[in-house]
Amino acid sequence: MNERGGSVKLRHINKYYGTFQASKDVNLTIPRGKLVALLGPSGSGKTTILRMIAGLEEPDSGEILIDGKIVNHTPGSERGIGFVFQNYALFRYMTVFDNIAFGLRERVTELLKLVGCEGLEKRFPSQLSGGQRQRVAFARALAPNPQILLLDEPFAAIDAKIRLELRTWLREMINRLHITGIFVTHDQDEAIEVADDIIITNQGRIEQTGTPQELYKNPATPFVARFIGNSIPVRNYNDFQFFENAGPDSVAILRPEFLSVFKKGENIQFSKSAEDAIVEDIIFRGSNLEIRVRLHGNLLPAIRGINDPPVEIGETVEVFIYRLFLLDGDAVYMIDNQSLKRESMVI
Ligand code: ATP
Repeated sequence: MNERGGSVKLRHINKYYGTFQASKDVNLTIPRGKLVALLGPSGSGKTTILRMIAGLEEPDSGEILIDGKIVNHTPGSERGIGFVFQNYALFRYMTVFDNIAFGLRERVTELLKLVGCEGLEKRFPSQLSGGQRQRVAFARALAPNPQILLLDEPFAAIDAKIRLELRTWLREMINRLHITGIFVTHDQDEAIEVADDIIITNQGRIEQTGTPQELYKNPATPFVARFIGNSIPVRNYNDFQFFENAGPDSVAILRPEFLSVFKKGENIQFSKSAEDAIVEDIIFRGSNLEIRVRLHGNLLPAIRGINDPPVEIGETVEVFIYRLFLLDGDAVYMIDNQSLKRESMVI
């Protein structure tokens, strides 16, 4: 394994714990050099997938391939894999030096430098900050020169501010080393910010795989549409004018960027197709304002610039909804406001 980086493929993987099926026909392909997030709710089977790639669990059926070779029966230690756990899993009775050296002694100095922990080698984990501990854990996992780095919720135990720094650092490190990184998270912001690709798990199955943008813009299933982004369920869908009617059971969701709030008379382009709504709440979000308006029984959040003419709680405003996601059975349809077409044809 001279070349750095390692591709990972799972083919028709099924995994049972007793009678409980934790992985259901899981298929995935991760090209070498990518940083990929396994994202899904608790119990959806993310860790199980990671542990099977690491060789810590065996699938009941299906194949695991690393660089095109089936590794089902290759011990984890021979798969060229490093593993970083959520709780650092450092040895408390060993110094930092010895913790990293546990992987491979001669690379300690090089790795200390790589993870920015020079000068800390004589310390014990209890004498480090959370961020430093996790960097040492990364260094230890990287010590045997793995082609693939697996990370199970690597930032979960770390303060919000340091977590942001570590995310950027992880990205840079994976790029620099040109290895493949696969990390488990249930934090969609983390997955969206850090990963090249995201694999969404749900009840042991893979729902969708794609870049963060693809998943955000084109969710393939109702689960993904609800799970990714700020998805607001819409009640009384058929009361929304300017959208096609749908079956009585249809559920729609929208995102704050799908609607705009205008003061009365401010909206020239879409005034004919805007609907009146009442402002119920205004939340200052730093760079913008979130305006919550009541429309057909829904409390809908919209974004407004801080330099736009101010609106007040209780004010009647005009709301224009550009689009909705309509969830119908297993399908997701993106539906644009019909007047978008009509009004732009008039112009
Ligand atoms: P979390 O985010 O909570 O860690 P996850 O998506 O990583 O969840 P897994 O840890 O893969 O989920 O677990 C998937 C399912 O398999 C869960 O319902 C879990 O209870 C079950 N499970 C996991 N490990 C075992 C085990 N050793 N024995 C029995 N059931 C298990």
